[in-house]
Amino acid sequence: MTECNHDCSSCSANCGSRTQPQDFSIKANENSAVKKVIGVVSGKGGVGKSLVTSLLACASQRAGYKTAILDGDITGPSIAQSFGLNDRLYSTETAIIPAYSSSGIKIVSTNLMLDDPAQPVVWRGAILSGVVKQFFSETDWGEVDLMFVDLPPGTGDVPLTVFQSIPLDGIIIVTTPQQLVRIIVEKAVNMARMMNIPVLGLIENMSYVECDNCGNKMYIFGQSHAEELCRDQGLDLLAQIPINTALTEAVDKGEIEAYPVSYLDGVVEKLAAE
Ligand code: ADP
Repeated sequence: MTECNHDCSSCSANCGSRTQPQDFSIKANENSAVKKVIGVVSGKGGVGKSLVTSLLACASQRAGYKTAILDGDITGPSIAQSFGLNDRLYSTETAIIPAYSSSGIKIVSTNLMLDDPAQPVVWRGAILSGVVKQFFSETDWGEVDLMFVDLPPGTGDVPLTVFQSIPLDGIIIVTTPQQLVRIIVEKAVNMARMMNIPVLGLIENMSYVECDNCGNKMYIFGQSHAEELCRDQGLDLLAQIPINTALTEAVDKGEIEAYPVSYLDGVVEKLAAE
């Protein structure tokens, strides 16, 4: 048995005299100076969380902030593809070197580590969580003003690890208009609050489609409940993003930066200022 040094935060022993919770937090690599880390989460998959992460990063880089993306969606990574990145990451003896997008966003993702990105990542939860921690602590991120962490959907192992170990300044929750996802959003909000992570706001994606001819908005998933949800939960509704097929095409071609959209411009200023 280890001798008690009366510092419960760094001790892993589960003894009866514990007075403080164990501190699981990790630090960024010693060459890194990361000013703000923002998690992007969703209660369920397919709501556009990765697209929103990429758009936030593009808006941030355009606004002049040094920007990075840590793709924590280890088993379903799609960030690298939307930026057209294919080359494998390399590392020095001491650190992983991030990839650079065409506008200079630093990106680390499992897709940039596999020989064949089409191969599934079939790793157990503990390994997945370990990889996300390594991405944060073993990458030479250099100077970063805003880092966005794309988390896997839900409230499983990896989101839990990120909440406990990566020093998040807050999270943004991405959702879609259907009433069905409300309870799922509430779960994510409650998880963050249980772990004392500030919820910086909600972004509703796929809110409407705008008619090319008359500009009318069509609410194909029904009228939004985002305002009501935000009021009930005391959250900021940061943005409502339409379905935009030109954007999907740009993502599919790996050219997200060549198709700038302004949906999130004000949001980035707010995040940087908070
Ligand atoms: P998630 O990360 O939540 O699983 P993705 O960001 O991968 O979801 O989005 C799923 C698919 O939907 C992707 O092909 C993405 O490009 C597309 N998509 C998401 N949001 C929009 C949008 N607002 N307009 C057009 N396509 C979108």
